[in-house]
Amino acid sequence: MPAQLIDGVALSQQIRADVATRAAALTAAGRTPGLAVVLVGDDPASQVYVRNKVKACADTGVRSVFEKYDADLSEAALLARIAALNDDPTVHGILVQMPLPKHIDPQRVIAAISPRKDVDGYSVLSAGELMTGLPGFRPCTPYGCMKLLESTGVSAKGKHAVVIGRSNTVGKPMALLLLAAGATVTVCHSGTPDLGVHTRQADIVVAAVGRRELLRADMVKPGAVVIDVGMNRNDAGKLCGDVDFAAVREVAGWITPVPGGVGPMTITMLLVNTLESAERSAA
Ligand code: NAP
Repeated sequence: MPAQLIDGVALSQQIRADVATRAAALTAAGRTPGLAVVLVGDDPASQVYVRNKVKACADTGVRSVFEKYDADLSEAALLARIAALNDDPTVHGILVQMPLPKHIDPQRVIAAISPRKDVDGYSVLSAGELMTGLPGFRPCTPYGCMKLLESTGVSAKGKHAVVIGRSNTVGKPMALLLLAAGATVTVCHSGTPDLGVHTRQADIVVAAVGRRELLRADMVKPGAVVIDVGMNRNDAGKLCGDVDFAAVREVAGWITPVPGGVGPMTITMLLVNTLESAERSAA
């Protein structure tokens, strides 16, 4: 029997409806949640991401402040804008779209965002909170993957989870979230000699690499939950993930499609983080 699909579009809609209800309650109390979205330069992909984030805010009653700057904006000027947004009580989340132009140090920019407004969860403080199990902003993509996993009803507790990829924004926080949920976690990366040895033992596999067809059917344990974070293009130019979807679907128990799996959840969790930041500031 083919795997059941984990529908990221439907789950997103459900969570966004809840965000909209809670945002309306805050607005009624005179505290509309606000997200500042800062874009520097003209990277085409970044422009699409930013547009989608701004639209998602409008759809859920979250106020967005979109600030777009030319690629030659100085680092000092950007840091000054962030300082102003940190002090703005109507802004509850600050997102600086990555990548930044080469002359700007992304770490310095992330560090300049107030920890109370770090809704991307990229700061060293947010990473430390995740690592030590303290409440805080969780990075949106792995946070969304956890929600997708929860939606299957498969508990991570006592399971063996394999995360492929160890980036600071996806792989590492994903591993920490699964660990916190009670899984035994293996993290694989480009230096892992035989990926299949690990993935074949996994009850849960999260692929976050950026290489199409990296995870093949013979690398998956029957019945496993497979979450595909990858975003690639196939030969026809169509969006695809890291998983050989058609073949793995015949082996896995649950699987996320690409598109329509992890993608919509990333922006949804950004809205959740912003809303929760606004709720905390109103408390
Ligand atoms: P990244 O920073 O490039 O990290 C990729 C990771 O994959 C690295 O840790 C790398 O290992 C590992 N890797 C590379 N080749 C490998 C191989 N053959 N076997 C095992 N591991 C390998 O990418 P990222 O930002 O984490 O993103 C990963 C993918 O997810 C990309 O396709 C990206 O577009 C996508 N993504 C999607 C969303 C979404 O909303 N759907 C959000 C974020 C990212 P090393 O550390 O050893 O180099």
